[in-house]
Amino acid sequence: MTRKTLLITGASSGIGAATARLAATDHDLALHYNANVQGVKDTTEACRAAGARVAILQADLGDPENVAPLFEAFDAEFDRLDGLVNNAGIVDAAARATEFTPARVARMVAINLTSPILVAGGAVRRMKSGAAIVNVSSAAVRFGSPGQYADYAATKGGLEVFSKGLAQELAPEGIRVTAVRPGIIATPIHGKGGQADRVDRLGPTVPMGRAGTAEEVARAILWLLSDHAGYVTDTVLDVSGGR
Ligand code: NAP
Repeated sequence: MTRKTLLITGASSGIGAATARLAATDHDLALHYNANVQGVKDTTEACRAAGARVAILQADLGDPENVAPLFEAFDAEFDRLDGLVNNAGIVDAAARATEFTPARVARMVAINLTSPILVAGGAVRRMKSGAAIVNVSSAAVRFGSPGQYADYAATKGGLEVFSKGLAQELAPEGIRVTAVRPGIIATPIHGKGGQADRVDRLGPTVPMGRAGTAEEVARAILWLLSDHAGYVTDTVLDVSGGR
């Protein structure tokens, strides 16, 4: 059987890296990263050990102009694309909206919304019936992240609306589009936003009494991508321990 090819953005860390590792047994992988060279190397090594053919693609998605070259690099390695995990994303330091700067908001929008929209477009141009896209949103869409990063929540809300439109647009063509909303997940993202203790602090407040793992989100993503979810499109799956 032909192995499916999967493009994962932000595969050097956290949820993207966990998705790559779990997908490697039955997918070939285009693993995107921005700055974390060691992270993408480690992920690649694990995926190759599991039998996957892997191509590493670098792009700073803070500049949406980098999306087209990302796909040129993809085309040099693969001639089919069966799945996209639109995962790369950032938070920023906890702040009230009165403290947001144009530079902060522009970066957040570029990485979390503009580039993922363009990445999805590039992916669709290479997809056929049976392919699937999973956009990585956030439970922040339900809460709005007041006093933390309401700008982040807004970008994820935008991504979910885009996800809906794209799902409806592509349903007649047999391409499914869904989103996941991770809750509080133990990954490096919290430290990057200046709150390394966020998982320990907030994990116990989740109804299930703990933060989630990157692998738990990855398993939901892989189910949504799989043929087992063949009649699932235009939906958002919360992976948030009841929060
Ligand atoms: P993470 O461990 O910090 O990983 C983030 C990934 O995004 C990294 O691979 C990183 O690449 C990439 N990235 C960051 N800036 C980038 C840029 N300028 N250009 C291209 N790629 C860039 O975070 P994570 O928790 O796994 O997050 C993955 C997704 O889940 C994000 O969209 C996030 O919003 C979402 N999410 C996470 C949580 C949570 O609690 N962890 C909750 C809800 C939603 P490099 O490291 O190579 O720069």
